[in-house]
Amino acid sequence: MSQPIKIGIVGVGKIVRDQHLPALAKDQDYRLTAAASRHGKVDGIANFPTIEAMLDAVPELDAVSLCMPPQFRYDAARTALEAKKHVFLEKPPGATVSEVEDLKALATRQGVTLFASWHSRYAPAVEEARSFLASTRIRSAAIVWKEDVRRWHPNQDWIWQPGGFGVFDPGINALSIATHILPAMFITSAVLDFPENRAAPVAAQVAFRTSNGLPVTMDLDWLQTGPQSWDILADTDAGKMVLSGGGSKLAIDGKVVHEEPEAEYPMLYKRFAEIVRAGASDVDLAPLQHVADAFMLGKRNVVEAFFD
Ligand code: NAP
Repeated sequence: MSQPIKIGIVGVGKIVRDQHLPALAKDQDYRLTAAASRHGKVDGIANFPTIEAMLDAVPELDAVSLCMPPQFRYDAARTALEAKKHVFLEKPPGATVSEVEDLKALATRQGVTLFASWHSRYAPAVEEARSFLASTRIRSAAIVWKEDVRRWHPNQDWIWQPGGFGVFDPGINALSIATHILPAMFITSAVLDFPENRAAPVAAQVAFRTSNGLPVTMDLDWLQTGPQSWDILADTDAGKMVLSGGGSKLAIDGKVVHEEPEAEYPMLYKRFAEIVRAGASDVDLAPLQHVADAFMLGKRNVVEAFFD
């Protein structure tokens, strides 16, 4: 096997602790070498307050994973790419489409890898859903993503700020799957509900259509208590498909055809190692473009204030 990729992790918060550290600990393709975070620390490795301090002190790093919220990621990505490090971007890859395009061009000029990671695409039943849909005629599709923000994002102020995307933070996960398994589509209308005290939406209804006229709807709600829904449904000539659990379970006409525990982050790091070793980048901006379009085309309603 080639030498492990020496990686530094930046923005040590919830997703780093829940997913990145366990995935890296089990992956022989990597050696987690350093971390940079203003407050967070990772035990057993060198910790620094900023990415600049980390890159100065640990020049042998090959790659960095940038896990801070999207509004604060561009400058760190630029710094890493200029230092010729391979860069793994948490989702969403940035706060705007154009800043990620800029990073993509910089990565190419520097001859290093840029990875816009979309963890939900690596959910276990997604590839089978994609094959199923490719083998039949789709009549319509619907995305239903309803979760309780107080449970999944307690006191995360950045998520309600401009560039935090509000309910599109989970919604972009749905879009990362939909853009992988459905034909190319575009938004025809959107309605976004903004709490009167917040700068990002708490709910959204979005309508898409494909170039051959297939209707696709998306219903996002962040105030769902009780059962949570992370489902993509399709009515097809071969039956009704339900991809549920954020891509972990596939059923056709009520019969479960694929269900497995998720292993999204190990798969993401496998993909990153693959493209680093191949000298390639993987930056698909389709999910981010749809979110941008929803904000561009969407009618805005002001709704009741939201408090954590
Ligand atoms: P988080 O815990 O609120 O933030 C991660 C860390 O980023 C913070 O602990 C903080 O560390 C750093 N940070 C916060 N504000 C910053 C700023 N202004 N400048 C620089 N660093 C800052 O958020 P998270 O849940 O881990 O989410 C981070 C990213 O992962 C988001 O893009 C999110 O969409 C994605 N993600 C999250 C989940 C999830 O379930 N939470 C799942 C998948 C993907 P320091 O204070 O130590 O610098």
